[in-house]
Amino acid sequence: MKQNETSWNTDNEDEPCGPNALGEQEVSGNAETPLREDAFVLDDDTKIELIQKHFKEIMQILGLDLTDSSLRGTPKRVAKMYVKEVFSGLNTKNKPHITLFDNDYQFDDMVAVRDINFYSMCEHHFLPFFGKAHVAYIPKEKVAGLSKINRLVQFHARKPQVQERLTIQIANEIRDVFHTEDVAVVLEANHLCVASRGVEDIGSITTTSRFLGKFKEEEWKQRFLNMGRKIY
Ligand SMILES: [Zn+2]
Repeated sequence: MKQNETSWNTDNEDEPCGPNALGEQEVSGNAETPLREDAFVLDDDTKIELIQKHFKEIMQILGLDLTDSSLRGTPKRVAKMYVKEVFSGLNTKNKPHITLFDNDYQFDDMVAVRDINFYSMCEHHFLPFFGKAHVAYIPKEKVAGLSKINRLVQFHARKPQVQERLTIQIANEIRDVFHTEDVAVVLEANHLCVASRGVEDIGSITTTSRFLGKFKEEEWKQRFLNMGRKIY
């Protein structure tokens, strides 16, 4: 193993994507995506070119005929999709810009957005996991347009992820952007690496949650968790 590969965990090739996939990060709350220091030395176009070359090789090793008109463009499509779309959240230059407004109404109750659709990619199998995010915060001095919460969820989903870390990253982001300690995040997701391989359980949903500040208190937590109930 080369020196710069020593930090990668290759001990368990079939590491689960469910609970405990995150290990110590979950305990510490430090949930940065493990990135190399030189992660952004190459520009996007160079990355696309290199990934294209290597993905073509993978396809060839699998025995696919790259002269076929349907397959010919696949390496380029995959490379562009990785860099510009499904993994665009790795680069903070793609983070949505959030404009904050003064909380003129002194609104100090829960602001919650339910059923935010997200699509992410499991970092253990590079297969999609996707579902709904439910996010709440209690404003302090500043508020922002609600669609910004959707954009932040989607930004963090566009990385190789494990669901637990995605949950923590969203919670930390909302806390930092809105300058409030009171944040709740619940993710419900379907993992294709569970559904289409391994145990092949197509129906199971994985739920993860992160409660900060007041949402650690049972009353606020229950209000957040019950908000999906129809009240009319
Ligand atoms: Zn997986």
